[in-house]
Amino acid sequence: MSRLVIVSNRVGPLKDTGRAGGLAVALVDALTKSGGIWFGWSGEVSEEGTFGAFKTQKTKSVELVQMDMTQADYDDFYGGYANRTLWPVLHYRLDLAVFDRRFEQGYRYVNERFSTRLGPLLKPDDVIWVHDYHFLTFASHMRAMEVNNPIAFFLHIPFPAPEVLAALPNAESIVRSMLAYDLIGFQTERDASNFRRFVEEELGGTDLGDGRLSVAGGEVIAKAYSIGIDAENFAKFTSTLDARRNIDRLEKLMGGRQQIIGVDRIDYTKGLPERFRSFERLLEDYPENRGRVSLMQVAPPSRADLDAYIDIRRELDEMTGHVNGRFADLDWTPIRFLTKSFTRRALSGIYRASKVGLVTPLRDGMNLVAKEYIAAQRPEDPGVLVLSRFAGAAEAMKEAIIVNPHSPEEVAAGLQRAITMPLDERRDCWKIMFDRMCKEDAVAWSRAIMDDVVKCRSGNTVRPH
Ligand code: UDP
Repeated sequence: MSRLVIVSNRVGPLKDTGRAGGLAVALVDALTKSGGIWFGWSGEVSEEGTFGAFKTQKTKSVELVQMDMTQADYDDFYGGYANRTLWPVLHYRLDLAVFDRRFEQGYRYVNERFSTRLGPLLKPDDVIWVHDYHFLTFASHMRAMEVNNPIAFFLHIPFPAPEVLAALPNAESIVRSMLAYDLIGFQTERDASNFRRFVEEELGGTDLGDGRLSVAGGEVIAKAYSIGIDAENFAKFTSTLDARRNIDRLEKLMGGRQQIIGVDRIDYTKGLPERFRSFERLLEDYPENRGRVSLMQVAPPSRADLDAYIDIRRELDEMTGHVNGRFADLDWTPIRFLTKSFTRRALSGIYRASKVGLVTPLRDGMNLVAKEYIAAQRPEDPGVLVLSRFAGAAEAMKEAIIVNPHSPEEVAAGLQRAITMPLDERRDCWKIMFDRMCKEDAVAWSRAIMDDVVKCRSGNTVRPH
């Protein structure tokens, strides 16, 4: 069995520490099975940066290999191109994107430095798997170093329509660099077809069907591999002490009332202000819920140094005050807004104690919270998921109540339907989604990508870059 080499911006943790972010959780499993290296940034800034010594950590089968960046790398690559340019553009938010040539240069430079440092650690039959929008150009640098191993890439966030991506300066050149990967995986069919369309329309490629693209004398697979969770294991979390303690505390607090739960990093893509407005609309349009249904929003802060994130946090604090001031009563608080993080075990209990899971991003690659909410429910009396049509998860969770997060009326009506849904219907919808998740788990996801990249590479000896 080939060793797996994973490259991602943040590495680990190998254990669930409750840190927010969907990437780590799904990868640990694949890596533990085949053994290998997890390579990426240490999360620290130093003077030597990518020229400094590696920081390593070893478990039985997995070695974490990390290195620092300089402050300039951090500002241009991470704070700049990744978070201020690619993140908004790929989430369709051209209004928030910053275009600065220095950022793009820093991004390409850090991609090159990371590939240069990884090169000497590789063995000839390693399979390399690169993750996410921080490393779009990584494989092109590896190919320039004549690394001939199979290299797969998975984009965890959306890939926008070509009309939107075209606004990114040098979009063509960035996408051309991506063609040095053997396989490019996306969360949804929509993302994959947006990519294929860009390659056809802007780069003169040909769609050969089955996700295969022919371009510049080479072939690349660009397909959807929807990321799953280990649903059965997550369901087991609900019997842990952490989970049971939370279930007891919440059930005591609610005393027969109902709770809607939202769990999201604070980010403008998650539609949090829109969500709070929709909850307010529920209390306006369906007044029978006043005093009876509350919204708990768990929202660990992220990227708290960026202006767009500071603004949204302020807006949410104000909206919580506004809705609570307007509707609260002696023994009932409409919105509880918690800006702390929980372990996934603890979260499983919070999900289980909540009658409705409310997941309404304006755009999201997949959204693992939607899947975790379903996995954590009581099979005999499950809650209901209200899910944005713009979450990647909606493609494979059609039995949820699918809503447009931009419409407070539609979300409020969806919430009302969820709150009043009869038990039989709740059970039927839940069972279909849970059974499907058990089949399409994280192991199946990584196996499909690994199988395809090895097959594809064996037919590809010369790659364009
Ligand atoms: N999460 C967590 N603790 C928290 C909040 C979130 O462990 O307090 C986890 C959550 O269980 C999920 C992940 O963070 O696994 C969020 O993934 P998702 O795909 O929903 O969103 P992302 O943050 O990756 O955009």
